Amino acid sequence: MRVVRSTRCSLAEMTRSKRQMLRGVLPEYGRVVNHFIDQFWTRKWSKKELTKENIAFDTWLSARLRKVAAREAIDMVAATRERDGRWAHKPVHKGKRMHVSSTIASMSPSKDAREFDAWLHLSSMGRGTVLDLPVRFHRHYHKFARDPTCRRLESYVVTEDTVQLAFEVEVGEPRREGPEFGVDTGINTLAALSDGTRFGTDIKPMVERIKRCAPGSSGQRRARRALHQRMAEVAKEVTSLNPRLVVTEDLTLLSHGRRTHHRVSKNMRRSLGAWTYRDWLDRLRQACEVDRVRFESVPPAYTSQRCHVCGHTERGNRKGEVFCCRACGHTDNADVNAAKNLLIRFWGREPHPTRAYGPGFEREA
Ligand SMILES: [Zn+2]
Repeated sequence: MRVVRSTRCSLAEMTRSKRQMLRGVLPEYGRVVNHFIDQFWTRKWSKKELTKENIAFDTWLSARLRKVAAREAIDMVAATRERDGRWAHKPVHKGKRMHVSSTIASMSPSKDAREFDAWLHLSSMGRGTVLDLPVRFHRHYHKFARDPTCRRLESYVVTEDTVQLAFEVEVGEPRREGPEFGVDTGINTLAALSDGTRFGTDIKPMVERIKRCAPGSSGQRRARRALHQRMAEVAKEVTSLNPRLVVTEDLTLLSHGRRTHHRVSKNMRRSLGAWTYRDWLDRLRQACEVDRVRFESVPPAYTSQRCHVCGHTERGNRKGEVFCCRACGHTDNADVNAAKNLLIRFWGREPHPTRAYGPGFEREA
């Protein structure tokens, strides 16, 4: 199985005039992408349809870069639609990054300079603009570059001070041996496993620190970095148990106004934040891919209210961190019970509840 991994390298060594030029390109690129998003929003477009006529637009960008922008617009629209379904909002490109391939960019090692490792050559952008930007590699890049099973792709995400490079990594076939885990996420436990193991029980103060800091402040950025660091560690802790299967909540339809989801994960989202939660699941998925663990997700409706033993579903089953079934009396940690439900739901083995609608039970909309 091959997966794509990316690594960000610094462009900090570039001269002021080059930076000025790059600052001229990126916002215009963003404007063109947004024009194409408008054009592609109403119906699904295929990249094969991008003819000269279809990508005509009043801009100084070359036809080549316009085509790149159109492709990025198609990807952005598709990603938003896939994630949010009919509740999707039109995405906006902020003009801070540009995703280019070999038609625009190439990278070659620098011969003698000590300050940096390679040149990123950008051309055919329009108005005869050619940019040679100095790239500095770091440990994470070298880890991929030295590995003979990794292949670097001709894919570059350029921002004002970094370039993101991509590698295709061979990770081998998925494991056949090992335990299967449902993994539930909450503010008290980042990863509650269906076997009762709980990892990341220390994240609550970290999330609260982010909320206390002024938005956009350096203190908040530091706090975010600390949380993300911790998430990466917890993801590794999960895969260190060598499972063959991990089942999590499916966030595909997590979006504004979706009533069932709103109700189900309201508390979790309010405390952890929808984006932080998505980041965490991405991290866990990546850790699973690298460790050859099959990663799946299921719709999470009522997994926290449902008794995994008898199937009785009622809001009153859950009291904070404790789950106590009002029908059969089964008692468990609330997050662990939810994790068990995720795994059971994945295998389609949900027991039929003895009472369909008990007190406090909410009918599905
Ligand atoms: Zn029960």
